[in-house]
Amino acid sequence: MLADRRGRRISYLRISVTDRCNLRCRYCTGGVKQFIPHDDILRYEELHGIIATALDLGVAKVRLTGGEPFMRLGFADFVKEILVRNPGVDLRITTNGTLVGPHLEDLYQAGLRRLNISLDTLDRERFADITGRDLFPEVHQAIGRALNLGYNVKINAVGMKGVNDDELPAFLDLARSHPIDVRYIEFMPMGGCGRWGADAVWSSEEILARARNLAPLEEIQVDSPTRGPARIFRIRGGQGRLGLISPLSGHICSICNRLRLTSDGRLRTCLFSDKEYRLRPILRHPRLGLARAAEVVRRATLDKPLGEELLRARRERDELVCSKGMLSIGG
Ligand code: SAM
Repeated sequence: MLADRRGRRISYLRISVTDRCNLRCRYCTGGVKQFIPHDDILRYEELHGIIATALDLGVAKVRLTGGEPFMRLGFADFVKEILVRNPGVDLRITTNGTLVGPHLEDLYQAGLRRLNISLDTLDRERFADITGRDLFPEVHQAIGRALNLGYNVKINAVGMKGVNDDELPAFLDLARSHPIDVRYIEFMPMGGCGRWGADAVWSSEEILARARNLAPLEEIQVDSPTRGPARIFRIRGGQGRLGLISPLSGHICSICNRLRLTSDGRLRTCLFSDKEYRLRPILRHPRLGLARAAEVVRRATLDKPLGEELLRARRERDELVCSKGMLSIGG
């Protein structure tokens, strides 16, 4: 079983399969980005090896993210192959929802059940303004089709004052009238070229206070080793739920169970630490390979830091929460 020196059991691996994205969200990519050269991106076969190794080590939940994962050629086939090779794996995808539509049926038939769709607004014009692309109808349709097929759908919205804070009633209505979990994540000052402003940060506490005025909420205690960082609230009489993820204002680092792998094969053990363990040279080395990579993962995990300590120090120095952007890390 993978664990760190603090006794945290590590059961969740997030893999970014590409750093490319078809959207240009103001707060994420913003302007120009230098993409990772193709040869440096882990090949699908290398990722299969990593996933099998991680599952052997005790990882129970794998999330594929990006960039936009569906931007990568052959991604849907890769997902199907993961499900064939690892029956019963708890596999999830985080996507912006613009390109997933044509693959929904196939992937459902292959056994995929969980989709997180990032969507910060329910308004078409605002969507185009935030993302730089007029693709709201594609996302809207994908959500509807995913629900009809039986997917478990979560919507992740970055809560930003002055940008989308007026849409809380609409998002709550969506969660009330559909079996969708709407989860707000606090806006973080990340590296990369996204635009961030302290004034736009909308804390989870503020969101919760406002939401309580709009709907009767009951907090649900989630007690699972693979649970995520969200506080979850049932909306009385509703089908879906509200979730709040508070990377800035409230930490649950003491129960953090995750590792991250960037698309060029760098293992990160904490969102707030820039320390990376380069697995790609090990995987491509003729005498090393997966066995050595597994050893590195095990040792890196032992040293997984307590993110809130790093974050506090960074914030005191007025620094970004991490030097890379979300596009590279995958959220
Ligand atoms: N393209 C996929 C998607 O849109 O879900 C996966 C990658 S995207 C970088 C992952 C998540 O990171 C998205 O939900 C996005 O909103 C979030 N994100 C990006 N920049 C952020 C920031 N500065 N603060 C908080 N969340 C951020």
